[in-house]
Amino acid sequence: MSKIWVLGAGQLGAMLKQAANPLGLDVETVDIESQAQLSLAADDVVTAEREEWPSTTATNQLATHANFVNLQTFPQLADRLTQKQLLDKLELATAPWFPVTEETSAEQLHQDLGERVLLKQRRGGYDGKGQHWLKASQPSEVPHDWKGCAIAEQGIGFDEEVSIVGVRGKSGETYFYPLTLNLHINGILYASIAPLKRLAPLQAKAEEMLAKLMNDLDYVGVMAMECFRVGDQLMINELAPRVHNSGHWTQAGASVSQFENHMRAVAGLPLAKAVIKNQSLMVNLIGVPVDYDWLSIPGLELYWYKKEVRVGRKVGHLNFCSGDQAELKDALIKLDKLPTPYNQALSWLTGHLSH
Ligand code: ATP
Ligand code: MG
Repeated sequence: MSKIWVLGAGQLGAMLKQAANPLGLDVETVDIESQAQLSLAADDVVTAEREEWPSTTATNQLATHANFVNLQTFPQLADRLTQKQLLDKLELATAPWFPVTEETSAEQLHQDLGERVLLKQRRGGYDGKGQHWLKASQPSEVPHDWKGCAIAEQGIGFDEEVSIVGVRGKSGETYFYPLTLNLHINGILYASIAPLKRLAPLQAKAEEMLAKLMNDLDYVGVMAMECFRVGDQLMINELAPRVHNSGHWTQAGASVSQFENHMRAVAGLPLAKAVIKNQSLMVNLIGVPVDYDWLSIPGLELYWYKKEVRVGRKVGHLNFCSGDQAELKDALIKLDKLPTPYNQALSWLTGHLSH
C-alpha cells in the first residue's frame, strides 16, 4: 500500500500516526522545518496537521504532490479574511466582521460593530494569540501594524462555546460526532465535555452547517467547526481543516476516533458512524509538568506530547470516559493539585456533569 505523509510533526501528527497503526497504514510525519529530500512515490498521499507551513525542501515537495488532499482548502481557511468570506458566501451565521485596512479606525469599528470589537490577525493565530480587544469605553486606536493583516469582529456575548467535528469521505459521505461543549480561558481551550443531552436539539443544525462547508469545498477528511451558542442559535467562530483539540475526547469516547477517521478518509478507506460510549471529558495540560501519579486515577487516559513545558503551552491532555458519573467526578477531584486556573476548569466540568 502507498504511504501517507503528514505535513507537520506535532502532537496532532503523532496522534494521526498512532490511530493509523492498527489499520496497517504506513504513515510518516514531516517536521515543517525539514530540509530533507523525501522519497515520495507517485501514488503516495499527503495530508497535514496544520493550516500553514514555511517553505522548505520537504514542505515544497509535499505541497506540490498530486495527491495532497484538500491542498486548496488550507490557504483559504488559514486566512481569516477568506474564511469569513466563505462563511458569508454560504450564508452561514458568523460574528459580524470587517477587514482591517489602512483606513480603518477604532471609532468606525465601534459604530459598525458595537461596544466590544475583537481584532484578529488574519494568519497564524492560535490559542487566543494574535487577538486584540477594542472597547469603546476605553478609547484606543487600531494598532498600526495590524492594518491590512487583520479582521475586526463584533464581540459576541455568547452563552457558551461548542464545536462539532465531522468527516467527509471521497464519495461525499459525511459523519459527525456529537456537539462538544468547550471551556476557553484567556482564548485557550482548557476542557471539553461530550456528549451532552441538552445540546442534542442543536445537533442537526450543526451537522447541516458543517456539511454545507465540507460539500462546498469538496473536502476529504476531518474538519472542525467552533461555534458560539447564543440562545438556540449557532454562530460559527472558526473552522479548522484538520483534526481538532475539541475532538480529542473521541480517543476515549468513540469507537472510531477523529484521528482514525481522518486517516481512513484520506486513505480512501470505508467510513462508518462512530459508536459513542457514555460521556467523555477532556482536560488539556497547559504549562504543567507531567505527573505519572495521574495514571492511578481509574478511567484516566494520559497523552503526553513530550514537549518542553512553557507557560500557556499545550503539552498534553487527559481523557476520561465513563457511564458512571460518580467515577468521573472522583477523577476530577483527584486532579485538585493542578494550578490555577484548573480549579475553574475542573469545577466547570463537574458542574456540567450533573446536568
Ligand atoms: P484556536 O486555538 O482554537 O485556533 P484562536 O486563537 O485561533 O483559537 P479563536 O478561536 O478565533 O482563535 O478565538 C479564541 C477564543 O476567543 C474563542 O474560543 C472565544 O473564547 C474568544 N472569541 C473569539 N472570537 C470572539 C468574538 N467575536 N466574541 C467574543 N469572544 C470571542
Ligand atoms: Mg478557536
